[in-house]
This record gives sequence, C-alpha cells and structure tokens, in this order.
Amino acid sequence: MSKVYLKRKISPRVVNGHPWIFNNEVEKTEGDPVGGEVVEVFTHDKKFVGKGYINPKSQILVRLLTRSKAEEINEQYFFDQIRKCWEYRKKIGYTENCRLVFGEADSLPQLIIDKFNDYFVIQTLALGIDVWKPAIVKALEALFQPKGIYERNDVPVRELEGLPQQKGFLSAPFDTQIIINENGLKFYVDIENGQKTGYFLDQQDNRRAIQHIVREADVLGAFTYTGTFEIHAAHYGAKSVLGLDISANAVAQANRNAELNRLDSICRFETANAFDVLKQWGKEGRQYDVVMLDPPAFTKSRETIQKAITGYKEINLRGMKLVKPGGFLVTSSCTNLVNPDLFLQIIDMAAKDARRRIRQVTFQAQASDHPIIWGMDNTQYLKFLIVQVQ
Ligand code: SAH
Repeated sequence: MSKVYLKRKISPRVVNGHPWIFNNEVEKTEGDPVGGEVVEVFTHDKKFVGKGYINPKSQILVRLLTRSKAEEINEQYFFDQIRKCWEYRKKIGYTENCRLVFGEADSLPQLIIDKFNDYFVIQTLALGIDVWKPAIVKALEALFQPKGIYERNDVPVRELEGLPQQKGFLSAPFDTQIIINENGLKFYVDIENGQKTGYFLDQQDNRRAIQHIVREADVLGAFTYTGTFEIHAAHYGAKSVLGLDISANAVAQANRNAELNRLDSICRFETANAFDVLKQWGKEGRQYDVVMLDPPAFTKSRETIQKAITGYKEINLRGMKLVKPGGFLVTSSCTNLVNPDLFLQIIDMAAKDARRRIRQVTFQAQASDHPIIWGMDNTQYLKFLIVQVQ
C-alpha cells in the first residue's frame, strides 16, 4: 500500500478527527498511487494517522476512511459500515425514510445514500468512493433486499474528481415515481428527475415544527419544491395555503401531492420567482399569518459568500414584510458556508431593515438522520428558524 507522509506541522483539523487531507499538507508520497487507491497516512515521524482513498486530481488529496491500522478496506468493510449506519438510524427512530449514509459524518466520505422505504438512491461524489460502488450495492442488497437502487451522480462536483456526471439504475429497472409516507402524509418522490436525490429528507422533522402556528392561518410558502411544507400546513389546519416555486415541474408535482392527500381544496401552487413576487406583494400590502421560506443554497464557494448573505437578507426582508403583526416567519438556509450564527445575524439585519421586532420560537438544524460532527463544519448545514414577527 502506498504511504503518504504529512508535513511536520499538522493542521489541528486532521489531529481532531477531520477526514480531509489537502495536497498542500503532504510532505511526500511513497509508492505511485493511482487515483481512487487506498493509501496509508503517517505523520512526518512515521506515526500512523489513518487509511483513506487518494485522488491526485483533487485538492483534497486523501479522504480518510479509518483511523485504525488493523482495519482492512475491502468489501466487508463497506458492508459493516453501512450496517452500522442502519443500526444508528434505527436507534434514533428513522426507519422508513432516512439518510442512511451521510458521507463524512458516517465515516464514508462523499457517499450519500437516501432510503425511501424499499428504494435507495446513491451518490458517490469522489473517485475513491465511486470505485466501491459495486461493494456498496452488494451491501444494500444483502441488508435490505431493496425493490430498487438508483444512482443520482448527475452532479457537477464529480467533475472536480475527474468523474463523469451520470444517473441510472443500479438494480433491475423500476418505476422511479414512488410514494413515501412522512408525518402521516404521502408524497411522490421522483427518484430519476427530482432535485438532488429526489426529496429533501433533511427537513422531515422541521416540517412538524409548524404544526401549531399554522392552525386557522393564511399561509404563504415560497421555494415550495414539491409542496411538502405547504401540504403539512394544510394538514395541520391552515385556512388557506399558497406555495410558489420557479420550476413548473415542481409546481406540477406539488399539485399532485396535494391531491394525493386530498388537501387540494386548501393548497394552491403557482409558478413564480419568489424574489419578484414577494417584493410586489409587499408593495401591494398583502398580509399572511405565516410566511415560509426554504430557498436553495445561494452559494457553494467562499468567494461568493457575500452574494449568499445579500440573497438571504433580501428574501427574508421581503418575507417578513408580508407577515401580519403577531404572525410567524418560518425560514431555512441550506448553505453550509452560512453558519448558524451568521444566519441569525442575517435575519436580525432583515428585521431591522423591515422595522419589525422578532422573537425566536425555535431554531433547529437538519433531521438527526444527518448527524452533525463538531469540528466538521459542512456536516451542520441546515438552519431552520421560526420567529414571531411583531
Ligand atoms: N421546501 C422544499 C425544498 C425547497 S428546494 C422541501 O421541503 O422539499 C428550493 C426550491 O426553490 C427549488 O424547488 C427551486 O426550484 C426553487 N427556487 C429557486 N429559485 C427560486 C426563485 N427565485 N423563486 C421561487 N423558487 C425558486
């Protein structure tokens, strides 16, 4: 096995358990490892650090899989790891639908597996994990006897690893429009063409958090995607619900979901650019009891973080202006570069600009099937806030 030696001064990140080793942190490599190969990592004075996969094409040269010298990285390793992930999800109460594997937070860097009942959607976002796809599929088959496994590797980040974007079946073909249950409701999940893996499981607990505030309320939801928050609002007793999304496909799916739950007399969905429409409605003086915002990540790179901050402030300012005094703003951010403190500061700035006083009802993260590892910033990515707006 090839060996990678770190520089004398190791970053505290690596010492404290973070699995990434950047190429500028490496002193020398012994052997001639090819991309995707498992290597051993040592300190400059030859103390064992861990084993991980290497990709000389990537800025992140090695991603560690294990800190144990005895552990072999083979087919059995992936079976054991995935089994542990499943045991953990069962333990914390996520069985039907869950993020079964959440990459780095589950010691399986760059591997995402979402479980939708008997169907599994996989993303292998780095070369060193992509090469283990057959072992991962085999492990899923052995553990779950799935009705279907699908690969959603149609994501640009794979190109940084020299991998093609692709999607398709990893099992016998199946109907990729499936139905899942969540909080007593049913939702279509479009595994093949939906966003990301088809459905945002990370908000599954947060959707329950609106239960009381939407009762008897007129609710506006922007960035609705397949209408999940909005349909929950109707289910929890909202008087009227309007959901907006810029994608006509998303709106069509949201309407189908409302019908599926027989809530289509309460929920209405429209195709619209939320930035424009919320501004316009603010000017017109429209008012809602509850406004819900769940925009996409506004940036993925540190260079454009200011753009994200401006975007979040703007949309929250516009949303807040539409809330009746005493009503509620339900607002999310999934940009991991905007940390929880910064997000709260942005909402505070928006409130000041809107000349509204707010008080925090609840502040949450993603559902617990996406574990957070302290010190691994990108594992704590979702912020979910409810404030009352005076
Ligand atoms: N709330 C959803 C997830 C939202 S994902 C859920 O819980 O499942 C973000 C959505 O915002 C996407 O569906 C995307 O189409 C939509 N979107 C992006 N830009 C938009 C804009 N300017 N106006 C309205 N919708 C937008």
